[in-house]
Amino acid sequence: MPVFLYKFYFFDKYIDKCGFCDIHRSMSMIKDFYEDTMDKICISREYVRKLPYIMGFKTTHWCWYSCAHCLESCGPNMPKEYIPADVIKGYINQAIKDPKFGKELIFTGGEIFSAYYNHDTKYVKELLDCGLSHGCGVDIKTNAGWATKTNKYREQIICDLADVLTRYSPGKINVSPLQISLSLDRYHADCINKNAQLISDLSRAQSNSTCMIHISTFDKDMPMFAELIKKLNKDGNRITELELVGGGNQIFYAINDRVLVYCSSAQLNKHGRANNLEDAVPVEMPQFKFLTRDKRPQIIMAFDSFGNVMLGENTGRKIHAPWRDRNKNPRDLPAIRRDLVRSAQYEDLRLYIRNLIPGLSK
Ligand code: SF4
Repeated sequence: MPVFLYKFYFFDKYIDKCGFCDIHRSMSMIKDFYEDTMDKICISREYVRKLPYIMGFKTTHWCWYSCAHCLESCGPNMPKEYIPADVIKGYINQAIKDPKFGKELIFTGGEIFSAYYNHDTKYVKELLDCGLSHGCGVDIKTNAGWATKTNKYREQIICDLADVLTRYSPGKINVSPLQISLSLDRYHADCINKNAQLISDLSRAQSNSTCMIHISTFDKDMPMFAELIKKLNKDGNRITELELVGGGNQIFYAINDRVLVYCSSAQLNKHGRANNLEDAVPVEMPQFKFLTRDKRPQIIMAFDSFGNVMLGENTGRKIHAPWRDRNKNPRDLPAIRRDLVRSAQYEDLRLYIRNLIPGLSK
């Protein structure tokens, strides 16, 4: 037996006999004490360390639009680069074994469906398959810029979405775990027509399950939702107004009995290109805006195509960590989560000091 293995073998026994494991135990008690004390001082650190998390993937910064309000400053001038599907699938596979993972995924961009044009026509379907086959709820966000009659990949995209909806259908009367989110506001070009086209196409293409479509708008643009429903009606779709049990006061519209459309609005925050817009509202301490849902709070870990993971989806200064190491390889999820805890702690302490020293908080 080589000497070092021999030593190692007896070192283990020695630890057991001479109480080295007591030292080990003491060290881990000191570590737990440190973690708990820091959690008490730094509240967001505790959130990041202890709350369940969901994962979002801003798969690319490329987009065919260059909207004036874009929080991520995306556009056609950005690199046509996408987080590799294997990297995303690797993180989903790691998270699924972690009891703290809330089993919810968000796929977005830039414009994720631009992958059909710039990258790989199988990319989107591969990601949806991965998330849904693990039993996750999946939300995919798009600007529907591709949903025009003459568009090269429109039919294939609708076909792929219908196929995924059919394969992961929980049953005829149940809603699919795949939600599609569409943008509807005065900044997205021709969005009423494109959203209406996508909703009509999808409601006619799939027959097996009910797909939820979430329309995301700004408070001021809320009337555009009524215009969208009118347009769907005008285009010959069958529309039923519904109030779902457990749906709050939300009104849902069933389109051709296959798609459920609902709308939510938020204020436009100052960030990215929206910094230049008059009606955008500054966010106070945006670095701490990373929780979703009041009743069952979770944190959002958002991976982007530049190699960062941020807390919160798209506002302001971020608590962040890199997902790539120096050699550009993906880091392990636990290491990223440890860095996010440290980054949250740094932000907490920075705020604490800022509040302590008069004048600094202005
Ligand atoms: S807001 Fe959406 S559609 Fe507009 S540039 Fe940004 S990612 Fe593209």
